[in-house]
Amino acid sequence: MKDTYGREIDYIRISVTDRCNLRCRYCMPEEGVESISHDRILRFAEIVRIAEAAAALGISKIKLTGGEPLVRRGIVSLVRELKQVPGIREITMTTNGVLLGEMYEDLLEAGLTAVTISLDTLDPKEYARMTRRDEFARVMASLEKAVKDGRIPVKINCVSYRREDPQELRNIALLAKEYPVHVRFIEMMPIGLGKQFAWLSQEELMEILRPATGVLIPVEEVLGNGPARYFRAEGFAGRVGFISAISHRFCDGCNRIRITSEGYLKSCLQYETGIDLREALAAEDPQRLKEAMAEGIRRKPHQHHFTEQGEIPQEERHKMSQIGG
Ligand code: SAM
Ligand code: SF4
Repeated sequence: MKDTYGREIDYIRISVTDRCNLRCRYCMPEEGVESISHDRILRFAEIVRIAEAAAALGISKIKLTGGEPLVRRGIVSLVRELKQVPGIREITMTTNGVLLGEMYEDLLEAGLTAVTISLDTLDPKEYARMTRRDEFARVMASLEKAVKDGRIPVKINCVSYRREDPQELRNIALLAKEYPVHVRFIEMMPIGLGKQFAWLSQEELMEILRPATGVLIPVEEVLGNGPARYFRAEGFAGRVGFISAISHRFCDGCNRIRITSEGYLKSCLQYETGIDLREALAAEDPQRLKEAMAEGIRRKPHQHHFTEQGEIPQEERHKMSQIGG
């Protein structure tokens, strides 16, 4: 369906848990987030009903996220069930990659159509410091397994904040030289703990990357479901992309809604405009759920107002780990 500003909404991100096996410094405090009690977290049957209502509204692509989606027990069955929802063409996932290697075959067999691995550094020590967990080797093994297998597209997401050693960012970009994967740099959003990190614009980042990538040549191909702008680098197997919500606001082309792990439809990453789907879910009436979701889409604001200086103060009820990025 189209929103109030004529944007076609065809993509939904669903956070399946607020829990995680890492503690990335921009996302979660050391002690983890205060866990939402089990009975408030969406049950699989509810997620499937949300997907059915979404499909009835013209949404064809689902991204599973979290917290860490792979720590949610039974996630493989959820992928399988969602894949069977008529109208849903793509089930993709954003994961930190820790458990991906061991679950990869099952996820593919269940119908996963693409995977994005979040990875901010290739330095094992810095990885352990940044995520507060020593899981770097497992993530790299997962990445290598998925790339070698080659049956589904693999992307890398790296959050671009200012690093002490800029070579870290270059090394991440070089993954697209070594492997046929698209590496995307995501501007740090001033949400929750992310506000404390030194922000870096796309232009500054491209300058930092230049010794590794050479001149980056824009490509026009559409390479995914989102707002990334892709570039080609000489001798690279994959593309280098930038998701620059602040330095290149892309709200005019925004095609998505998000569902938090508790069932709140969030129509914009910044604003709390949206709708709580709990009541509609409890009513067990598909039409009511579809109408509630349509109302959530109608409430989608025209654009966000994050700025390089941070954000205009406003209520922030949901954490990144509930929203799912
Ligand atoms: N645990 C999974 C993962 O890390 O991919 C899925 C959830 S995580 C919240 C989704 C994405 O959001 C990750 O790529 C993460 O790096 C990114 N992220 C978290 N906080 C962010 C922030 N403040 N600004 C930009 N991206 C952020
Ligand atoms: Fe976990 Fe992903 Fe947040 Fe890192 S970014 S703490 S992996 S949810």
